[in-house]
Formats: sequence, C-alpha cells, structure tokens
Amino acid sequence: MKLFGTFVSVVLAAPAVYDYTAQSTAGSVWDQGVCQTGTGQSPIDVDESNLTTVTEKFDKFTFVNYENPHKWTVKNTGHGVKIVPDVEDMTFTGGAFSEEYKLAQFHFHWGQGDGQGGYTGGSEHTFNGNHYFSEVHFVHYKSSHSDLSAAVASGNQDDLAVLGFWLEIDDSIDEGPFDYLITDIVDDKVQAYNNVTETNEVIFWSANHIIDTDDVGSSSFYRYDGGLTTPTCNEIVTWTVFKDTIKIKAATAAKMTTFSNDNQGALVNNFRETQDLNGRAVKFYDGSLAKDPSAPTSTPTTSNNTEKKSKVDAKVAFGMLPVSFEDPLSGEVSTVMKPVQKIIMCFTNSDLCMFQ
Ligand SMILES: [Zn+2]
Repeated sequence: MKLFGTFVSVVLAAPAVYDYTAQSTAGSVWDQGVCQTGTGQSPIDVDESNLTTVTEKFDKFTFVNYENPHKWTVKNTGHGVKIVPDVEDMTFTGGAFSEEYKLAQFHFHWGQGDGQGGYTGGSEHTFNGNHYFSEVHFVHYKSSHSDLSAAVASGNQDDLAVLGFWLEIDDSIDEGPFDYLITDIVDDKVQAYNNVTETNEVIFWSANHIIDTDDVGSSSFYRYDGGLTTPTCNEIVTWTVFKDTIKIKAATAAKMTTFSNDNQGALVNNFRETQDLNGRAVKFYDGSLAKDPSAPTSTPTTSNNTEKKSKVDAKVAFGMLPVSFEDPLSGEVSTVMKPVQKIIMCFTNSDLCMFQ
C-alpha cells in the first residue's frame, strides 16, 4: 500500500503529458516556448522540387559496434515506444558530419488503421506532402558530450544527430528486420503504457539489423537543421532522413496500432505535424557520391569488442526455443519457450540468445 501511495503522488506531481491530438490547441505544450516561437522546427516536408543537391563526394557513414549484441530496455512511454541500449558504445562517423556521434536510444512514430484494412501515416517527415506509415528515429549525440542530457543542455545546432528511416508497408516482400523486432521481440512487452521503471523489459538485439555500414553507409539521404519533434522542441538536431524506405509487413503495422497510450486508449498517430521551413535548406546527398573515409577516425575492433565476439556462438534454428530475459535490477534471468523462426547467436555457456 505504501508503494501504491507513492506511485499516485508521483503521477499527480508530474507535468502534463503531451497529447498529439492537442497540437493546434492554444495553451497546449505544443503552443509554448520554442515549440511555438522557433523558426527551425521539426519535422518538415521533404519536397523533391525544393532540394539543394550536394555535388561533392563525402565520407560514407561508418558504424562502429552496431553489430555487437546489446541488452536493450524497451518501454511504452505512453506516447511512443523507446528502446535504450545498456552500453553507449555504438558510434558513427562520416555521412557529411565532421565529428563522431554516439547512439543513445531509438523510438518510432506511426499512424493508424483506416478501418478498411489499410493504414494511414504515421511518419513525422513527409515526402512530397505524403506520410509513410511509420518512421524510426535513432537518436545520437556528439561523442564529446558525456551523455544525451549534457548534449541537450549545451544547446548547439549539431549536438544531436538523429538518423530517421521511413517505414513503408509492403506485403510483397519477405519479413524484414523491423518486422522481427516488433512482432517477435518487442510486441508483448510494450502493449500497455508502463510508467514503472522497475518493470521495464530487456531484449537482446543488434542494431546492425537495421543500421549497418554496408547497406546504410552509402545510402542517399536528406539533411537539414531542425529540432526535437517532442516538447520542448529544442533546435539542436541535425536531421538525416534516408531516401530508401524500410519495408514492413501489414501485420507489423497491425501490431503497432494495438499498443495503448497513457490513457489506455489506442497509441496511434503519435507524430508531430510538419513545420515551416522558414528558408532552411534541405540538402540531398546522393549515395553514389559516398566514398570510403580517407583516414579512419576510430578503430572498429577493440580488445573489448574481440572479447564480446568470443562469447557468442552462431546458431540457426526454427521452432520453439528457450528465450531468456534478465530483470535489469535484480539480475534474475527467467527462461520461457518462445516460437521463433531463426536465431543467429547464443551467448556461450548461457541460454541468452539473439534473433535476427
Ligand atoms: Zn522521434
């Protein structure tokens, strides 16, 4: 009972949670501070007829440690789903950035069912005025900052680098890595709003299933200076939105639209409306101009990395397999049988496995 009393008081004392349906409401969180007065806000429409095409070659994105298995905490925040790695050792260079950036978390935004078996968008950035169903944001901060909070506090335009991918429903393709992530790993852990830190769920996963140097490193992308798409809308983000979409199955969209928000209603349409460019340039970087970096700025393989690799065995399997989940506080590991289509790695001498 004591715990319950504490919980209630925390909820009452907390500031009002922002509501995506209140974006045009006077006095809402969207109508305050920089969200309302800023001239470099996000998201925006990517208009093909209004791009500044970059013609010089540039260093391709190079991602370090994204291929390593990590433990990630997944959470339904009430207005989205956020996935945070336990170790911030994933970094990238290149991609027309002059410094190294570190991955802090990723999350996604999505639309809703249209009542006729289809879906409406969804994505925060639009393309020629049209939404894709969903958009995933990999939030990075400049490695010279101690952590994400310090980067946000410092308030410079390029403190954060968010890499965004549009998610497009296409049932003509096989199930892809994002389908696996949502339907096989994340789904049942984020169905309901979870404001209790102690019950956050942990998954095992490698970020390179979505982001890797081979596929993403030389992809074409759009780039502009903007801000956080959630209050307080700080204008501290250099945005990258990749031209090529990630294809997902309709079944995955169906899963995403069954999650609950913090009022136990449907968690759908959790995207901010597009904002005025106010004269900002949206640059287009053609992937064919991406080149290998002339001088590596970081070493992909460290002794720590080698040690991690030696702890995993590659396996491929189908059917029911034991899957373990570790409680982040107690360290207690519980194992359940779970249907999976394939497994790529299991930690040596343990039941902990990772899916692709
Ligand atoms: Zn976002």
